[in-house]
Amino acid sequence: MTEYVKLLHLLCERQPIIKETLLDAFPGSKFWKIVDTAVVSALLTQFFNEADQEVRERHGSKSVSLSNVLHAYDRSTPSSMRSEFCWSPEEADRAERWATFANELATNLHEVIGHGSGLTAERLNGAPHAFLREHYSSIEETRADLVALYFIADPKMAEVGLVPAESHDDVIWAEYEAYARTALVQLRRVREGTSIHEDHMRNRQAIVHWLLANTNALERRVRDHKTYYTVLDRAAFRDGVKRLLAEIQRIKSEGDYAAAGDFLDRYGIHFDPALRDEIVARTDALNLPAYSALVQPKLDPVRDESGTITDVRISYPCDLTTQMLEYSDGHRRREEPRRAAALAR
Ligand SMILES: [Zn+2]
Repeated sequence: MTEYVKLLHLLCERQPIIKETLLDAFPGSKFWKIVDTAVVSALLTQFFNEADQEVRERHGSKSVSLSNVLHAYDRSTPSSMRSEFCWSPEEADRAERWATFANELATNLHEVIGHGSGLTAERLNGAPHAFLREHYSSIEETRADLVALYFIADPKMAEVGLVPAESHDDVIWAEYEAYARTALVQLRRVREGTSIHEDHMRNRQAIVHWLLANTNALERRVRDHKTYYTVLDRAAFRDGVKRLLAEIQRIKSEGDYAAAGDFLDRYGIHFDPALRDEIVARTDALNLPAYSALVQPKLDPVRDESGTITDVRISYPCDLTTQMLEYSDGHRRREEPRRAAALAR
């Protein structure tokens, strides 16, 4: 975690884009306050439920990343999933070696310096969602992904030790290529209709389609009736990401509802059903599921008489349905008093 905070401070000193888009345009303290206390987040899980609210109240934002969960998810994905959508053996090889690492790094950057940044104009009163309404989540996810895609290629990543310097180039390629492939592979999840509704899916397609339309960073290729999104130039990719980030940050900062809707409508929402059918046929042939879910280990705090946590008891339930019902029940029990208190006010 400290590496990320250190990285962020260094980046803000040196990088004009983060200064322009995140700090100078709308100065304030929120950005720093959040990132200094952020805990790296990737897959949010139930973790010391009882302590959640206490941590938030004392430190601000709190989320937890469980690397082993990310790895389990990755290991449960057959490598044919990647190779099927790689244009060349080199791309497949890079994906095999670096995509998992790059994805974890990008996810952490997305959470910490992505969602942890991005101030808004004063007149928005800290509530850009009230202005961007149904577009807000997709725009915010787009912004966080762009921050991650931009900074994963910064030399500082190697300097502060987040990436081995000799492999940094491969990591960047692997992340950009995987990002482009995802815009295709995710279509297997939308088996009906011609539009995407999920925010993260909209955001990924929007970025890739915008880059396809506005840069020479990647191109759409077809071989043996199979479609590929192939990255050609990683510098152009990063430059496009930078340009788009400036605009998406502006949309959020100014609460520009019309521009948000136009961007998502043009690049993020609609797709060609023939392409979707092709992707579904390819993933079905490999027996790849549209979604995967993982049962989480159960962590129970062990406390001494004073209530201090002294240990953690780990158990392994093997029933997803029961676990999901338990989570939802626990969530309701925690939220109920707060909702009642808010209504009584
Ligand atoms: Zn996010």
